[in-house]
Amino acid sequence: MLRALLLDMDNTLCDTHRAVDAAKIQFARHVCQRFSEETSLNGDAFASAFVTGIYREWSDSQRSAYLPIIERQGEEAFRKKLIQDLLAEQHINTVTDTLANDLLEVFESERIDAFDFYPGIADFLDRIRDKLTLVVITNGPEFSQLPKIAAVNLEHYVDHIIVGGQESEQKPARSIFEKALQLANCQAEEAIHIGDSFSADIVGASNSNIKTIWVRHEQKPDPVSTIRACYTVDHPREIPALVEKIVG
Ligand SMILES: [Mg+2]
Repeated sequence: MLRALLLDMDNTLCDTHRAVDAAKIQFARHVCQRFSEETSLNGDAFASAFVTGIYREWSDSQRSAYLPIIERQGEEAFRKKLIQDLLAEQHINTVTDTLANDLLEVFESERIDAFDFYPGIADFLDRIRDKLTLVVITNGPEFSQLPKIAAVNLEHYVDHIIVGGQESEQKPARSIFEKALQLANCQAEEAIHIGDSFSADIVGASNSNIKTIWVRHEQKPDPVSTIRACYTVDHPREIPALVEKIVG
């Protein structure tokens, strides 16, 4: 019998891609206004490179520069340095630490303003919570995840929220799924985990013997892995009907 739903947040319950795209546009505009005397500045290129950087799509030289900063000073320090470096590439060398901090806050506040559930998901959580215990497991650092959780008032919709950055290990580690099962007070076979990341959500939950629903978006199945999701949907909008069918 199914007793708990374990749920990823980013790009499963909430449209993180859309929020990042909206923030990118506003960030580019803001930077162009802030440095309006710098006629050569390409705000769109800067904002795109910033997003690429925070998603760790680094060149080798970026990797060797930024990993030690993240390890020693944390994510925020890295993001400020990334802003300074990307603007320096566009010949703007006057970005103090304070200004980099202001710019980072602009990006974060635009992203949070645009952050929301996918249509239909909040109502679905309200309905299904009468039948199942709901536990969100979200990877990522506190400073990035806590504002998103607050923006959609996630505590109001689910029973427990586990933030990977506050734990000793993140998904796909077995320990984080064990913690979720403990919080839900159920066994692995009494839970389903839903997520969009094949490597973190589907491999992680499967290794803990938890059934899975993969939110595929446009991703292809991993050809190397022998693990397969129990169910696959193309888009989060299909989650409510599938879960309600499984629950019966
Ligand atoms: Mg996700």
